[in-house]
Amino acid sequence: MTPVHEPIGATVLGYPRIGPHRELKRALENHWAGRIDVGELHRVAADLRSRSWRRLVDLGLDSVPSNTFSLYDQTLDAACLVGAVPERYARLGLDDTGTYFAMARGSDDVAPLEMTKWFDTNYHYLVPEVGPETRLRLAGDKPLAEYREARAQGIETRPVLLGPASFLLLSKPSEDASDGFRPFDRLDDLVEVYVELLGALTDAGVRWVQLDEPSYVADRSDDDTAAVTRAYQRLGAVTRRPNLLVASYFGDLGAALPALLSTPVEAVGVDLVAGTGVDALADVPGLADKSLVAGVVDGRNIWRADLDAALDRLEAVRELAGDVAVSTSCSLLHVPYDVDAETGLDPRLKSWLAFADQKVAEVAALGRGLREGRSAATAALTAARADRAGAPDVVDDRVRARAAAIEPAQLHRGHYADREAAQQAALGLPPLPTTTIGSFPQTAEIRAARAAYTAGRLDPAEYTSRMRAEIAGVVRLQERLGLDVLVHGEAERNDMVQYFAEHLDGFATTINGWVQSYGSRCVRPPILYGDVSRPAPITVDWATYAQSLTERPVKGMLTGPVTMLAWSFVRDDQPLADTARQVALAIRDETADLESAGLRIVQVDEPALRELLPLRAADQDDYLRWSVEAFRLATSGVADTTQIHTHLCYSEFGDVVAAIDGLGADVTSIEAARSRMEILPDVAASGFARGIGPGVYDIHSPRVPDADEIEVLLKAARDAVPARRLWVNPDCGLKTRAYEQVEPALEAMVRAAHAVRS
Ligand code: GLN
Ligand code: ZN
Repeated sequence: MTPVHEPIGATVLGYPRIGPHRELKRALENHWAGRIDVGELHRVAADLRSRSWRRLVDLGLDSVPSNTFSLYDQTLDAACLVGAVPERYARLGLDDTGTYFAMARGSDDVAPLEMTKWFDTNYHYLVPEVGPETRLRLAGDKPLAEYREARAQGIETRPVLLGPASFLLLSKPSEDASDGFRPFDRLDDLVEVYVELLGALTDAGVRWVQLDEPSYVADRSDDDTAAVTRAYQRLGAVTRRPNLLVASYFGDLGAALPALLSTPVEAVGVDLVAGTGVDALADVPGLADKSLVAGVVDGRNIWRADLDAALDRLEAVRELAGDVAVSTSCSLLHVPYDVDAETGLDPRLKSWLAFADQKVAEVAALGRGLREGRSAATAALTAARADRAGAPDVVDDRVRARAAAIEPAQLHRGHYADREAAQQAALGLPPLPTTTIGSFPQTAEIRAARAAYTAGRLDPAEYTSRMRAEIAGVVRLQERLGLDVLVHGEAERNDMVQYFAEHLDGFATTINGWVQSYGSRCVRPPILYGDVSRPAPITVDWATYAQSLTERPVKGMLTGPVTMLAWSFVRDDQPLADTARQVALAIRDETADLESAGLRIVQVDEPALRELLPLRAADQDDYLRWSVEAFRLATSGVADTTQIHTHLCYSEFGDVVAAIDGLGADVTSIEAARSRMEILPDVAASGFARGIGPGVYDIHSPRVPDADEIEVLLKAARDAVPARRLWVNPDCGLKTRAYEQVEPALEAMVRAAHAVRS
């Protein structure tokens, strides 16, 4: 079919922005610490933008996105752009950048906006607040300014905006909003702001704009779908406007796809990796006179694409749509910059990987392939993928045989009532036992020792003795504070996932594979590339050393299988459930070894259990079934007397409460302080009837709680759940806090527990 308007060609939906060497992170932290002024910060930012655009052009894209840069978060940018700045920040009287950072990070007097996970990724966005009083208006010019900036460098770009419907669906009601108000009620008002913005962009010369509407890959009501249709009807009817690309990612648009296609927008972007794929497009009305931006290169994972298969898909789409453009399935924000920076990776493994720049090259190659036919270039890239399938490290027959032989009995422990009695007899804990979530402050000395050890400047014996000294200090402190169940403090762990990845076969770790988590924070997800097994015990020496120092029970501390997957880049050549089972078996062995070594309590953390929950309800049961099974497999190989704890980092218990019950842990600790124990009645109502440790103070803030306020929360907790099942602990691990905060906070916690006990 013939193109219906100016083609988009090869493109990506977005690109990382933290800098190939985390330049933005450094500039931000220097600016916040007062070491560089705002002018210098903006210079670093402009330089990063300029280098990114140039790179995308050099790598062969036809259409380069702009406005994908952000000093902190793209949702926060959108909020500022449309005037959704709550009065409490505006009142601070700061300049634009100051107000922006106050919303992101808070100030002395004002808490920051709430932060939450971006769909099912490990990226966090700031939740805009919108109420009836919010004066929605075009309040900024960031997309325009960045477009002009690129153009001044001779690069024509496609500004990327968060679409109005998703913006409101991602927002929460402002403090002033009355009950029943939804930010989405303001859609018509917000659309008028976008109308004005489209006019301004047209005046500046913009030819294509990308409006992201990812919220429509989750379940939406018919009303919400009708509303987005109206919104794009209106935006499409604007006479002076650029071409409109409405992009989606992380799944299928479902009913929103034909709805959007019925509007005058020129192009729709679909995720053909996470979604059902081309089949779902076959009978969709309205496709024939639109451009379809086909996301065929996985924007969230780091494997080289199968370019031949991708070309098959693109050719199939070409039969259906007016025009087809090639793209990544989502923004490349979720992958590191460049695999060539990984000098330490095994060359064979490296040849299978594509980070952002390699993915851009794949998209460009596919664009050429679509125009000119399959070439040697696509064949070479496909060969790397074939090599992976046959590589010896990828398939381990022993691991597969063991996973295939799992018996249902391995997923079950004795009856809870028997376990509860056995554990009470074995542990003899007081009512309302006090404990912590695992980590103690990661001090500068600990980090320095670890860095020196990794660099070979500290020999293993010296490293071990320093870590042991740290453990001994942490154990003494906990005894002095009067905690009932102790931990070893996790000093030896750089990160709860990376540490285990470094000790398991089937995982590799990177040296520069940073991915933005939020603001200046980055994580380096390990790469799970092959069958997983545990060559040797991992945590047993540290844990037994800690236990040898005290009469009180020490909790062994492990990371659960689902969290290991959620915070890694995971192989895409077998179902996630199979991979989870392999990781679970490795953790099961570690749990058993801890038990044999004399640890009477083992905690298996699953803070990411909810994060991987599929966006559509129809897919959730299957996920919850295999993820719960993986946890049970990891934890059911111990005697009734051994107490299994788990820790979950969030308080939105509602939609997964049955699954949390299904984990079968003897004790579950959850975040609860920020919501002031609001979740407990729900937990009790759900029939959950095992040990529960609702966090009694928020560890994300440096603020030290006093015993009275903790006592109030504990009493509220005791009213909601039976006292004999109630545990007392902070919201999460203490590794990001300083001892000056941790000591008085834990002291207050213990004091409050004693007061409520008596
Ligand atoms: N045991 C870990 C810690 O205390 C748990 C961290 C988490 O929940 N993210 O740090
Ligand atoms: Zn946590």
